[in-house]
Amino acid sequence: MKEIKYLKRSVKNLQPKFSHLYIENEAYGYSLSKTILRKFSNSSIIDIKHYKDVFNRSGQDFQTQKKSMNLILAKKTPPFLYPVTDMVQGHHMPGFFYTTPMLNCLYNCEYCFLQGMYPSGNIVLFVNQDDFQKAVKVKLNQNNLSKEVVTVSISYNTDLLAMENLFPITKNWIEFASKTRKLIIEIRTKSSNYGFIKSVVPSDNVVLSWTISPEVVSKSYEHLAPPLHQRISAIKSAMDKGWKVRLCFDPIMNIENWEKIYSEFFMHIFQTLNTKNLYDVTMGTFRMNKDYFNRINRRNPESDIYYSEYVNEKNTVALPKNIRSHIMEKLKQELSKYIVPKKILVWD
Ligand code: SF4
Repeated sequence: MKEIKYLKRSVKNLQPKFSHLYIENEAYGYSLSKTILRKFSNSSIIDIKHYKDVFNRSGQDFQTQKKSMNLILAKKTPPFLYPVTDMVQGHHMPGFFYTTPMLNCLYNCEYCFLQGMYPSGNIVLFVNQDDFQKAVKVKLNQNNLSKEVVTVSISYNTDLLAMENLFPITKNWIEFASKTRKLIIEIRTKSSNYGFIKSVVPSDNVVLSWTISPEVVSKSYEHLAPPLHQRISAIKSAMDKGWKVRLCFDPIMNIENWEKIYSEFFMHIFQTLNTKNLYDVTMGTFRMNKDYFNRINRRNPESDIYYSEYVNEKNTVALPKNIRSHIMEKLKQELSKYIVPKKILVWD
């Protein structure tokens, strides 16, 4: 078990300036490209053939690039939808997919798998959002799913709401989902940018899914993400307005005094939020795809997360089963004081 330490990192100047803006030849002409080129008219524009020529270059340093991110505008080609991995609660549900309107994130959580998944810390934005939505419609009409609800997580490899002031993608997807039968979209976020979508009418087809952690975890590991009280305030506003809200206590970190810290945290959260209006909660301990974990480890990261004892189970690096089951059991008991057990989805 780790003793947790605060790392002081500034959350100022979070708005990226994108000193360089790379654009695929095929991405010109889309209205989103035009909006962004206008918005970042001071950036140096570099024409490229394919986003992977820049994004997948060898010899890049993810963390150095995160300090001064550049933006790549690209046109996505199929596939647009991927089945969710077994790291996600409810992964066995039929019709559960994720999609990637954007790659990489404004925030820089130490436990984030993106730093092992992508060779670059720059952001890729796909400007043909309509093609993603057409692919969702095709999926909804596929024979095996035509009677099922299809769930699409749209902010899985990024945090779309965190960048809503720069690229209004979340709003666009909410409007699409609102008028699409049998579709549920899940929008994962750590952002407090609820204000950018507060004028939108809540839709039953949309789940706003907020990840929150105890203050000590947030301050130590969730760099650049808004502080807990700002996220709670955004969640409260969304719930009061009638949105379906999911709370993600994920990853639960195996820190010293985890039981006390998380129990007090849950008490604080459920004294502030009305659980009657809560869609559900998800919970799971830290885990990561083995290849991503090893890639991060090879870079000798500063984070203590990568120096703990883990096991490798079916290509997933995780806490040993007995430890994670014990943590989940205790914390599920704790959560059950506030929420009916059927609304608690656990990864174990
Ligand atoms: S908010 Fe999510 S996607 Fe962004 S860095 Fe943190 S864990 Fe990764």
